[in-house]
Amino acid sequence: MSHKRVIVAIDGPAGAGKSTLAKRVAEKLGFVYINSGAMYRAVALWALRLNIGLNDMHRLEQLAIAANIELRSSEDRVILNGEDVTDAISDSAVAAAASKVSAVPGVRRALLERQRSMAEQNSVVMEGRDIGSVVFPGAQVKIFLDAEPEERARRRALEMQDSGQNADMATVAGGILERDMRDRIRREAPLLQAPDAELVDTTGMSLDEVEDTVLKIVRERVSNGREATR
Ligand code: C5P
Repeated sequence: MSHKRVIVAIDGPAGAGKSTLAKRVAEKLGFVYINSGAMYRAVALWALRLNIGLNDMHRLEQLAIAANIELRSSEDRVILNGEDVTDAISDSAVAAAASKVSAVPGVRRALLERQRSMAEQNSVVMEGRDIGSVVFPGAQVKIFLDAEPEERARRRALEMQDSGQNADMATVAGGILERDMRDRIRREAPLLQAPDAELVDTTGMSLDEVEDTVLKIVRERVSNGREATR
């Protein structure tokens, strides 16, 4: 494999299995795993705590600029202003707020630079909504991970139940669809499949199958596409 820094961009809607997959792929490849959604969630959590209106673009931008967000990749922890907020940001109310906060252009600007700088020193697997389209348009590997809405809702509900949260399917499904819609129709960096991203529909696939499929794509792209590094 290339000695150059490699970027694997994984985008897709909520509940497609991006985080679990990205973590496993990063571990296999020895790359750093970066969850960009956690950064939007951290800003949203702070806004909720400070009672800042989720349409107050100016204050949200200031918050995003001031937020000290640390992603401890190897331990899978998220630190906001020195506090471990990993559990707090997994809440579905925070997810819903994150999808509103992330539509604010100033918030995206503030986080974009940090996301880019995180990949300066290391090869990374970064997951989100706009990694292949906006954050790293020159990434060697771009995956768009998708699954049928019912399956995404089911997976997310199971994940939430596993972590001890209340999750009935209908509510989870509604939350996911609403978030996806907001992410797809926003003007700034909407959720979309980059033209050069490979679509992986994980409906009915096991995690092992998805991992194998993605690792195969990585191997193909990295050995053929070395010159395409930007
Ligand atoms: O991936 P996750 O569900 O944690 O993301 C939470 C929210 O953050 C998403 O619904 C989306 O609105 C926003 N997000 C984004 N761009 C990213 C990652 C997440 O807008 N790259």
